[in-house]
Amino acid sequence: MDLDWSPTDLAFRDEVRRFLDENLTPELRRAGRLATSVYPDHEASMTWQRILHERGWAAPAWPVEYGGCDWSLTQHYIFDRESTLAGAPALSPMGIRMVAHAIIAFGTAEQKAYFLPRILTGEVFFCQGYSEPEAGSDLASLTMAAVADGDDLVCTGSKIWTTHATEANWIFCLVRTSRLERKQQGITFLLIPMDSPGIQVRPLVMTSGEQVQNQVFFDQVRVPKANVLGRVDDGWTVAKYLLNFERGGAAYGPTLQVMAEALANQAAALLDDPAFAAKLADARIRADVLEILEYRTMSAISHGRDPGPAASTLKILGTELSQRLTELALEAAGPRGRAYQPHAAMPGGPVADYLPPADCYLAGEQWQAVAPLRYFNDRAGSIYAGSNEIQRNIIAKATLGL
Ligand SMILES: Cc1cc2nc3c(=O)[nH]c(=O)nc-3n(C[C@H](O)[C@H](O)[C@H](O)COP(=O)(O)OP(=O)(O)OC[C@H]3O[C@@H](n4cnc5c(N)ncnc54)[C@H](O)[C@@H]3O)c2cc1C
Repeated sequence: MDLDWSPTDLAFRDEVRRFLDENLTPELRRAGRLATSVYPDHEASMTWQRILHERGWAAPAWPVEYGGCDWSLTQHYIFDRESTLAGAPALSPMGIRMVAHAIIAFGTAEQKAYFLPRILTGEVFFCQGYSEPEAGSDLASLTMAAVADGDDLVCTGSKIWTTHATEANWIFCLVRTSRLERKQQGITFLLIPMDSPGIQVRPLVMTSGEQVQNQVFFDQVRVPKANVLGRVDDGWTVAKYLLNFERGGAAYGPTLQVMAEALANQAAALLDDPAFAAKLADARIRADVLEILEYRTMSAISHGRDPGPAASTLKILGTELSQRLTELALEAAGPRGRAYQPHAAMPGGPVADYLPPADCYLAGEQWQAVAPLRYFNDRAGSIYAGSNEIQRNIIAKATLGL
């Protein structure tokens, strides 16, 4: 295993750094730095996507023919790492990082021609309709019905925890088209415009006070059969393919290192306290180890080896360490962290309560005010994209043969 960057990689890293220096405005960096969750402020995220699109870097992992970059795995990693270190706002993953890959693999020529360029520009903004009130970890139990009627499927049911359903103009849904022997059969993957008659969105407010997730209700919603992705009744194949992109590909190491470094700077006075300094040092070492694991996984993939359940391992380690760091930040914020001051942050969705103006008096420093929002928001990391218990099941089966 060779973990050194090659001269070509170093030249690429410098090119990325120059681009970030020239294009990340102070407002965009602020949005990246003060984001309370994996979803930064929507406007900032879309602005950054447009800038990346102009440079041809909005969707580097796509095949080149659809607008992707002909990069090595290492270059992808360098790009993600440098973007995080520079404080770039993250892009919403549901379109570019998730459904686009399924459209590329399973879409008709018409679907590819319509959706892919519009996802790149942000004109089409997708949300994900997988989970239902009675189907989360056991996703194949989903019941939202789609009944064939002429050229349409008529959909009735509801999806829950749908991130950014209020911003999205399309939703990709798993719907039940048949009851067959296995529950994984009879599911269809459907692309639905959010302005279809019969759709209602009910926002859900999180413990952080932000409104990013929603419940989406479908009452006799007519969707043309032309919007089926893949084959009718075979949507599970598409859904599983897409989940590989949802769970894999995230580089936790750089994000965690940035979090730990920021905490060390912000809470410098607390580093005199040996107990706090030891906890922060422990977290920083774990972040470094996690990054080495990511290099190892990347190296295995680039040599054509199967990384095994590495995506599950990295997801568990990454989200748990992130939760530890947000806990430490809350501890460091002390009593100031108890004040509810969402106007200090760049939330991923509107804040439900009355929001004072951004220049309103802050109790304490900005990072102290943001600490509790991040703490609450980060609890979700071990639940979404397949809960950590489910990831442990995957590891138990794949590694221990249980
Ligand atoms: C912030 C956030 C954003 C989300 N965004 C979206 C979105 O955009 N679109 C979407 O479709 N969904 C989204 N989700 C839903 C997410 O995918 C589900 O919450 C997740 O799959 C868990 O399902 P559940 O909430 O129904 O919990 P359950 O499946 O009911 O699980 C409850 C608990 O039981 C444990 N458990 C369940 N089964 C097992 C088992 N076999 N072995 C061991 N433990 C088990 C789970 O780990 C969990 O702790 C989001 C969730 C969150 C928190």
